[in-house]
Amino acid sequence: MEGGKTREIMKVELICVGTELLLGSIVNTNAAYLAEKCAGLGLSCYFQTVVGDNEERLSEVLRTAMGRSDIVILSGGLGPTEDDLTKETAAKVCGRALEVHEPSKKAIEKFFSDRGLEPTDNNWKQAVIPEGAIILDNHNGTAPGAILETEKAKVILLPGPPGELKPMFEESVVPYLAALTSQVICSQTVKICGVGESKAETMVKDLIGGQSNPTIATYAKTGEVHIRVTANAGDRKSAMKLIKPMVKELKNRFGNNIYTTEEETTLEKSVVDLALANKLTITCAESCTGGMLSARLVNVPGISEVYKNGVVTYANKAKRRLLGVKKSTLQKYGAVSEKTAEEMAKGAAVMFKADVAAAVTGIAGPEGGTAEKPVGLVYIACRVKGKTTVRRYQFSGNRNKVRESAVAAALALMRECILVYYSKVTFGKGES
Ligand code: ATP
Ligand code: MG
Repeated sequence: MEGGKTREIMKVELICVGTELLLGSIVNTNAAYLAEKCAGLGLSCYFQTVVGDNEERLSEVLRTAMGRSDIVILSGGLGPTEDDLTKETAAKVCGRALEVHEPSKKAIEKFFSDRGLEPTDNNWKQAVIPEGAIILDNHNGTAPGAILETEKAKVILLPGPPGELKPMFEESVVPYLAALTSQVICSQTVKICGVGESKAETMVKDLIGGQSNPTIATYAKTGEVHIRVTANAGDRKSAMKLIKPMVKELKNRFGNNIYTTEEETTLEKSVVDLALANKLTITCAESCTGGMLSARLVNVPGISEVYKNGVVTYANKAKRRLLGVKKSTLQKYGAVSEKTAEEMAKGAAVMFKADVAAAVTGIAGPEGGTAEKPVGLVYIACRVKGKTTVRRYQFSGNRNKVRESAVAAALALMRECILVYYSKVTFGKGES
């Protein structure tokens, strides 16, 4: 690849500051966010540390991090109170004095006057910055972020509240890191449905382990797995050249379970696109998902071409009256059964004269499960031009998770059935 040249990948390290984190009173979502973003930027992250609001221990952790990583990102402890000591400690460790930053002082004045409030003495603490620091504006709070460029490492200080940290990272840190590496960072996401998260991970384990540029990272979504391929290079074209063979390899491995490699395409859009391409109309008959499947489809602009009607039939009576599910079917097999799902799909297809009809019936919980039919059991049927496929699923999680999983599985099944019927494609065994 790229004339056989290997690029030195920058090492980034995260330090999350806060005694609350150590005690487990808050969940360290900043670490997850920052780690995911850094991986996406093609940076290697080998260490994450959580440390309390304690100067001595923070100094120790920061020194260690600066000794082994190129970039150290700290979150938390930039605020105005006594226990917020990240900035002061980082300045000390980096051998910088603290000075008043006039624009930050003005921004604090404005923040309070806009809200008709008076700043207290300790609010001014936030306008004090380590000398020579690059200041990162905070549009969602008062504490600015800062970057200290030292010989050893770049030290990036970010506020703790996620609502402040995330926009600051996107607006200021991403361009900074990209410029730092004088690299163009490109990525492409391969979106997969009908393959479980752990199976997908196993299928790419060797690729994750064996690559540094491009890197690949898997992200589990409800009912889907996204694999992001990221490469860095001197220019966009070279980066894309690195990405292309990896995407091709993923296509070999996941085949028709890949529903898109386009950033903006969602699973529901892929179903709607298929219906549009084949001039099909779609309908849904839903029980436990209560309209969520229709709602996902209606997310897609241009849906009116393909979706005309749908129905929520929660009670048995509704399934019989509106969809013509047989009384004997309900009595013999129950509402949550292969046969009921099949008859629901048939009823909806006939009733609404649709080419494709999806039906969902299941036990979302928390009540209502039995040994034979546990909570999370869902039957999904998809009928395409008179041919019906029914699958049994066993989802886990709470009521909402079960329902969301059922919707995603229904979309994947619709996609699969349309593809099989119209494009004569095949799917891997047990993968859908
Ligand atoms: P503030 O100006 O609000 O004091 P700060 O930069 O000093 O901000 P902290 O005092 O460390 O940040 O944390 C403030 C709040 O931000 C915490 O109470 C918590 O709600 C949230 N927070 C801090 N660190 C994290 C983290 N790592 N993950 C998720 N939330 C966090
Ligand atoms: Mg604070």
